[in-house]
Amino acid sequence: MSPIDYTLNEAIKEAQRCLHCKVPGCKKGCPINNDIPEWIAQLAKGNFGNAMTIINARSNLPAVCGRVCGHERQCEGNCVLGKKGEAIHIGKLERFLADFDSEAGWSHEYIPEKSRGRVAVIGSGPAGLTIAGDLSRKGFAVEIFEMEAEPGGMLKFGIPEYRLPKEVVSREISKIEKLGVKIHLNTTAGKDFTVDDLFADGFDAVFIGTGTGVPKRLDIPGIEHPGVRQAIRFLRRVSLYESGYMSRDEVVVGDGDRVAIIGCGNTAMDAARTALRMGAKEVTVIYHRYIDTMSALRAEYDDAVAEGVKFLWNTTVVAVKGGEGRHLQSITVESDGKRHEMPVDRLIQAIGSVPASRIISTTEGIDVNERGYVLTRDTPYGMTTRKGVFAGGDVTDRPATVVHAMQDAKNVAEGIARYIDAVKLMETIE
Ligand code: SF4
Repeated sequence: MSPIDYTLNEAIKEAQRCLHCKVPGCKKGCPINNDIPEWIAQLAKGNFGNAMTIINARSNLPAVCGRVCGHERQCEGNCVLGKKGEAIHIGKLERFLADFDSEAGWSHEYIPEKSRGRVAVIGSGPAGLTIAGDLSRKGFAVEIFEMEAEPGGMLKFGIPEYRLPKEVVSREISKIEKLGVKIHLNTTAGKDFTVDDLFADGFDAVFIGTGTGVPKRLDIPGIEHPGVRQAIRFLRRVSLYESGYMSRDEVVVGDGDRVAIIGCGNTAMDAARTALRMGAKEVTVIYHRYIDTMSALRAEYDDAVAEGVKFLWNTTVVAVKGGEGRHLQSITVESDGKRHEMPVDRLIQAIGSVPASRIISTTEGIDVNERGYVLTRDTPYGMTTRKGVFAGGDVTDRPATVVHAMQDAKNVAEGIARYIDAVKLMETIE
């Protein structure tokens, strides 16, 4: 048990502090409208199975949400008790409950017959898993197609182990599989099969939840040097190294390195803290604005500071000077019109990413915007410009966090269900 986990008694005691508000701010603050006061009330009485059943009705990934959601800005940030004292630690309670339930296996879900239609889901990140879980519970036969050797997408390869253990993600995925969802691994859309193949195979709808796999990069002199890396690729390499798929020297940050990170979102925080764990002796996050506009959660920033990460505000990197092999000599930074050289060994870019175009280029009729994000409509929610093909999560440029990807996917799942029901109804009338 991690020291930040509750014991059973501590969890019940914390749940008993909840006021069970008539108009609960916590629920309003939750992007997926989780029925927080209801499950906390069950938890306070020691009814773990009931509490879990209430959570399962809104969330497919409670153990994940309990760990990586921005509680400070969402449920806990809106808890009435936080106005004068301490908000209920909702994230920690959710995490306790989800872990406890996985170990004890107390909640048992009713699994409906899969008679409403067949849905193919491309990608097994938070959006794909949410679609799969929701549609399976609604009576659809769902198959997930994942290009990696393991399911989980960015949950497994984009969030470091210390924040979200892979074992927790695997546990959540096996719960989704128990709902009857089939997962095909090592199979890449646009290469091994196309969207048209899926329709020819009898699927009624296809969901694209492939996220943003292509990182953005700065256009500055020297940026092509091998000592400059992308945060999502660095995190992925570390993850593959930790899982035994890569050797230590394939992870670009080594012992004693001085590392600079460009960007100030959660991925930048993850890359900074991971670099320290990989032995970097100095890690500096460089951001062109100030702390009040950073997209990282305050808690992530605080943890990074506590671990020794330094921050340079109102500063941009304007040039990179390469050194031997994969090492850099220095970067040139600019602040208030003044430039100076900063010696670093590695530079990691964490300035966001955009979708890959593999599926779009092999499928007729799916329009994207000028930045490559898939365009979708509101009715049926999430359908692309191609009939029967839906999209959600990061590939659509809407959500920015795990829970927002889940929120969006829940609405798309509803859109897919309505679409398939309508098409089947038309077929019976004609
Ligand atoms: Fe409980 Fe806080 Fe939600 Fe009120 S706002 S129901 S006290 S968690």
